[in-house]
Amino acid sequence: MKSALMEILACPACKSKLNLESPARSGDDVVSGTLRCTKCGEAYPIKDGIPNLLPPEYRDRPASSLPGAH
Ligand SMILES: [Zn+2]
Repeated sequence: MKSALMEILACPACKSKLNLESPARSGDDVVSGTLRCTKCGEAYPIKDGIPNLLPPEYRDRPASSLPGAH
């Protein structure tokens, strides 16, 4: 994800600002790291440049239970 995305991303749980922790960058792209909510402290991982902003209760579902997976 582009570093500039940090300006518009917000915690899906409480809509607060997110801090970027332990970023691994490639140019202007953040390829991995953790987005940490400044209010509720929830952590959202960035993997392969994609921020995973799913709430934790959805994040750990087996892929086979997601719509569209076969
Ligand atoms: Zn939050």
